[in-house]
Amino acid sequence: MRRLSQVFLNSDEIADKIAAAIPLRGKTVLEIGAGTGILTRALAKRAKRIVAIEIDAKLARTLAENAPKNVEVIHADALSFNSAGFDTVFSNLPYHLSSPLLFRILESDFKKAVVLLQKEFALRLVAEPDEDDYSRLTVMTQAKADVELVGEVTREHFDPQPQVDSILVLLKRKAKPVPLDADLVNALFQHKNQTIRNAFEHSAYALKKEKDELREFADSLEVKDRRVRSLSLDELAWLSKKYANSL
Ligand code: SAM
Repeated sequence: MRRLSQVFLNSDEIADKIAAAIPLRGKTVLEIGAGTGILTRALAKRAKRIVAIEIDAKLARTLAENAPKNVEVIHADALSFNSAGFDTVFSNLPYHLSSPLLFRILESDFKKAVVLLQKEFALRLVAEPDEDDYSRLTVMTQAKADVELVGEVTREHFDPQPQVDSILVLLKRKAKPVPLDADLVNALFQHKNQTIRNAFEHSAYALKKEKDELREFADSLEVKDRRVRSLSLDELAWLSKKYANSL
């Protein structure tokens, strides 16, 4: 079903490589979007226990009937499932929900997450300031996690074959997250090619502030003539703090 991004891995060898991305001995793993269970079974060989979430009732039932003993299949929407307490997450993420599910993982108790993502999406997670791919997604992800590209999984390893290749990504929770004002980052990156001064001026509605006070604040900044897209994570943390203290 295209609506649910049901693009299944077709190679046990690749599923095994994905499961081997991090050590799983003795671990309980949360798997999001188990589908036909090809990755679930590879994980079950390595980990102590797998909790596999699947939204499609038929797939969930079939998997529950055939799954190894250490797999618990839960028919649920991963967007509303309470993932508290899971420190290890795996997913061949449904493409249409990559962003919301990634943000849910970042907000959860995860320590390590191994996620298969569309190549273009994955590259945005590791972009550097001033690169085209540098975006709100980059910044909000890197604020919480160190991001590592593990390797590419090309399109022929999926059924039905998608139009794009994928990349396996390892996210490791940062011991100390970079403190960012998510609303501020969100507002400014809507205008990421503009100068910081103009971006503030155009963010009055999003930030629920008066244009004049935002202009005055922006004018006081040394970085006011820089482009939003040039700000590093640390600079955005500095700006978040200054904004909180001034407005
Ligand atoms: N893990 C399997 C694999 O690697 O072959 C399936 C991956 S497929 C890209 C994504 C799976 O997520 C599908 O089985 C789909 O039904 C399921 N899915 C889609 N939206 C979901 C949601 N909101 N919550 C849980 N599962 C979802």
